[in-house]
Amino acid sequence: RRREIPATEHGIDPSLVDERAVQVCRVLRQAGYEAYVVGGAVRDLLLGLRPKDFDVATNATPEQVKSLFRRAFIIGRRFRIVHVVFGRGREHEVIEVSTFRAYLDPADAEQVSGNERTSKAALAGIQHAVDASGRVLRDNVWGTQQEDAVRRDFTVNAMYYDPQTQVLVDYHRGIEDAKQRRLRMIGDPAKRYREDPVRIIRAVRFAAKLSGLGFALDPKTAQPLRSSLALLQEVPQSRLFDEMLKLLQTGHALASIEQLRRLGLERGIYPLLDLAVERADTPFVQAALADTDRRVAEGKPVAPSFLLAALLWQDVREAWSRRLERREHPHPALQAAIDEVFESRIGDVSGRGKLGADMREIWMMQPRFEKRTGHAPFGLVEQPRFRAGFDFLRLRAEVGEVDLTLADWWQEFSLADDAAREDLLAQVR
Ligand code: ATP
Ligand code: MG
Repeated sequence: RRREIPATEHGIDPSLVDERAVQVCRVLRQAGYEAYVVGGAVRDLLLGLRPKDFDVATNATPEQVKSLFRRAFIIGRRFRIVHVVFGRGREHEVIEVSTFRAYLDPADAEQVSGNERTSKAALAGIQHAVDASGRVLRDNVWGTQQEDAVRRDFTVNAMYYDPQTQVLVDYHRGIEDAKQRRLRMIGDPAKRYREDPVRIIRAVRFAAKLSGLGFALDPKTAQPLRSSLALLQEVPQSRLFDEMLKLLQTGHALASIEQLRRLGLERGIYPLLDLAVERADTPFVQAALADTDRRVAEGKPVAPSFLLAALLWQDVREAWSRRLERREHPHPALQAAIDEVFESRIGDVSGRGKLGADMREIWMMQPRFEKRTGHAPFGLVEQPRFRAGFDFLRLRAEVGEVDLTLADWWQEFSLADDAAREDLLAQVR
């Protein structure tokens, strides 16, 4: 049932709504289409939080959306959406516009043959996109707003906000659930996890993100989580990796770990995540997780390489010292230790060139901080990744792995001018 809630009831502060999202909705509306802010942004607005990004949902097709904006790009093959881009460079902002989609049972879409599927779609009177091999791109079966709401995950993620009239549209009692601080899956939770097992991880993420506001998963939504874990084996590793990073890098890492434990999901989502849960109480990993949460809260950037380097530092140190005991030279021994750790812990992720390279750099820099003579320190501070390496050193100092004075010294050195740097070098001689 469609319910329209006026501003006086939902109390969304219009000043929290991104100007660009408002503009996108206005342009679409003026062209005769429906357009709403949707999803997580509406949830956050309702809770008085400033959303970090804005999605817009419309009944215009991607082509129709694209034609209305100067800088708009259709992206994605299976799930075509439009990126409307504002501004340039670092300041640029993207509003993601998706077309209302109908819910089509993925199991059906996977099993019926091309012809059957086409006729099924035709029978239902819905538009569909077909790829070169005639396969229906199931995610691009357009639908009404009501149908669009059904395919979304949580009730609080399935509301629509019209910035012009400030009316909130709710089909699944999302507003009540928000009031009750309840995260409830739309439909039959076990079935929805089967359809897309990544929803298991999303459940953890939202439970963690909103736990501070008193939210909890509805018991029926939480109950099948654990027994659905095995479904994640069918999900591509790269998607699991990305979801793991969202758990750990969006400002709720410690809360996510707590939720994983509470929900009995401490093992089985993704090997590196299992490891993070396992090591979350070791001083170094705990400090890294807390540091990441703090940085996000302060609006500072966080790099996945840093967190993963912290997570695997214990392994690198162990492999390195084994090699040092065998009297290998320190530098090549560290290289080899890192190779070993990549091999045993990351496997296919090491194919993510830049990430692996950055982790390696952070680790390889650590022994260089011990050399405070000659020209070496001058070279080190000029490294493009010095900051990450230094932050890592600071974390090691915080947990007593190296002397705090060493980290302080580098802090001073990095900020000093050349004359002051010579003085600092003289101090340690
Ligand atoms: P965040 O605040 O982390 O961005 P979000 O709710 O906006 O959270 P997104 O991944 O940005 O999450 O997705 C936007 C919206 O798309 C969601 O609110 C939800 O309505 C829908 N959605 C995203 N992923 C799924 C999914 N796997 N299954 C069903 N609906 C989904
Ligand atoms: Mg979002």
